[in-house]
Amino acid sequence: MSTDQRSIQDVQEALFSRRAAGIKQSAVRDVFELSLDPSLVSLAGGNPYLQLLPLQKVGELAQRIIVEQGPVALQYGSGLGTPELRAQIIEVMAAEGITNVGIEDVVVTNGSQSAQDMACKVFCDPGDTVLCEDPTYVGALNTFEAYQVKARPVGTDENGLIPDALRARIAELRAAGERIKFLYTIPNFNNPSGITLAAERRSEIVEICREAGILILEDNPYGMLRYEGEAAPTLRSLDAQNVIYMGSFSKIFAPGLRIGWAAVPTNLFRRFYLAGEAVALCPPTLNQMIISAYLDEHDWKGQIAKYNDLYRSRRDAMLAALGEHLPAGITHTHPEGGFFIWLTLPEGIDTYELLQQGVKAGVIFIPGAAFSPSGEASNKLRLAFCSVDEETIAEGVRRLSLLLEQAIAS
Ligand code: PMP
Repeated sequence: MSTDQRSIQDVQEALFSRRAAGIKQSAVRDVFELSLDPSLVSLAGGNPYLQLLPLQKVGELAQRIIVEQGPVALQYGSGLGTPELRAQIIEVMAAEGITNVGIEDVVVTNGSQSAQDMACKVFCDPGDTVLCEDPTYVGALNTFEAYQVKARPVGTDENGLIPDALRARIAELRAAGERIKFLYTIPNFNNPSGITLAAERRSEIVEICREAGILILEDNPYGMLRYEGEAAPTLRSLDAQNVIYMGSFSKIFAPGLRIGWAAVPTNLFRRFYLAGEAVALCPPTLNQMIISAYLDEHDWKGQIAKYNDLYRSRRDAMLAALGEHLPAGITHTHPEGGFFIWLTLPEGIDTYELLQQGVKAGVIFIPGAAFSPSGEASNKLRLAFCSVDEETIAEGVRRLSLLLEQAIAS
């Protein structure tokens, strides 16, 4: 059949790559569209509460940078990021207790999301395997799918990845002929579960991966948002040679600037940053300069402390409301930081269906299956406490609990 006999759409759609078939809109995005309705209480979005930023000050420094340094700020820059910001990232990492990183290890990225993409591009061929938590970050799962990579869950409990389960999973998958490239993990305040990998498990996880010849991709955007307890060492600080660390300014400053970074072992560094350069040429120069000025001129650690006070109160409000209203038979996590609480409902309640009822009842959340590489989380859901005030949180949990009572009774 010639082109003119078929519709142009059919002809074009036949040109899609096999890779593109795996790219789909994330369920999280679907729910975002719903959250624009002001009558709904949204416990869905993991958006940082930017109203707390010194916006006047940020505006002034952005203005100053453009007026005084416009030809640099609005110009292309290095694919590695600006030298100033790379040096400051070393200080930000030091504030998290990571001291084994040099400026030459750091590449600035378009959010940590693009660092995940770069890692897949550099390490994964179609059909390769990566290991991850179940549940895990939906954006990473989407990236894995886009690269036709199999995301294989490793057993976890309330203390995160279980070292023996990791060992057994590697052996099992290798026996089945799978090529495992890396372990993707969110050790601090997992999105969506809120769970943190216990300090005493961290060296063991690092050793297992090293011995097995598997890289670790450590995703740590929430690490500094801790509301209680002691920080455990990052995996990167335990092993500079086998861990690619991904950090982000999205949660500690502003996600709209789209600036994150990766700290990459020396021998992997060049390929890694070239993979980013091929997509975006360079991270946005103006945004990097705004962040540099903000870090230089504002008490950014004090700002994080303010955020932590606010988010702690909101977390506590959500935990209290869950304690007061949730019907029996439902369990939830108790995060020490980050943005999220993960609920497990009785088997048989499908949280996608519950969300449809939630829209009518005026409360939305994210159904658990979106975050599950095994697809076994249909009776789970994620609540976010970061972006709404305490009263609204209490009202949202009350509405959700009524729905859950009905779902359990029916
Ligand atoms: N990793 C995790 C665990 C996240 O929750 C997010 C954002 N929600 C990202 C990565 C992406 O962050 P960024 O804005 O830096 O791309």
